[in-house]
Amino acid sequence: MNDIATNIAKIHNRIDKACQKSGRNSKEVKLIAVSKVKPAEQIEEAFHSGQKLFGESYVQEFRDKEPLVTVPLQWHFIGGLQSNKVKYLRSKVVMIHSVDRLSLAKEIDRQWGTIDGAVEILLQVNVGDEASKSGCAPKDLETLVKAVASFPNLKIKGLMCLPPHSDDPEQVRPFFKQLRKLSEQIDRLQLPSVEMSELSMGMSGDFEVAVEEGATLVRVGTAIFGARVKKV
Ligand SMILES: *Cc1c(COP(=O)(O)O)cnc(C)c1O
Repeated sequence: MNDIATNIAKIHNRIDKACQKSGRNSKEVKLIAVSKVKPAEQIEEAFHSGQKLFGESYVQEFRDKEPLVTVPLQWHFIGGLQSNKVKYLRSKVVMIHSVDRLSLAKEIDRQWGTIDGAVEILLQVNVGDEASKSGCAPKDLETLVKAVASFPNLKIKGLMCLPPHSDDPEQVRPFFKQLRKLSEQIDRLQLPSVEMSELSMGMSGDFEVAVEEGATLVRVGTAIFGARVKKV
């Protein structure tokens, strides 16, 4: 087996173990291979070893790279997003994880309206209340969900977070718990056209803890493709 295939197999093993530990079914957890900064060849290599979902963070890079990838994978957009760049994602991605404000949701709805389709979205929550991070403040989430729920071309599927970094995954656990609690709170409101079935949380350094806390989508880059050369 090549490196990428080996790495993916190892991650599935670790996800399975985390599921066993927390009494979950590993079918509930999907792996998103975060391929930002990595070339099309490596993405196709991962695809041929069975990986179907891929996450990208930079619109410009995605725009250039997406036409070079010819295998039928599914793209998720997971990075910070400016409204004027949404058009480059239209009809190319199946889910946008980083919706954190009404103006952005409105533009996504408008763009998908022009192709007579709908796109799945997650609302990104700034669980650490960090000034430097995007994401809706936890206290504003309910208002945002209610406003976004009215857009016909968006399907709200759940929540996403990018918690404060720590080398110790146990330090991150409370933020994963917080995201799950928020999702349960929103779910209890039983809002029409709002689903809270997905929790996008956990990265290379902490995905097992995220799975133990209820993640359904883990976003793993480095542990699959190796370290990224810093983006300049
Ligand atoms: C880059 C990135 C990841 C993956 O990070 P790794 O530590 O390489 O696994 C996950 N989520 C988001 C939003 C990212 O930008």
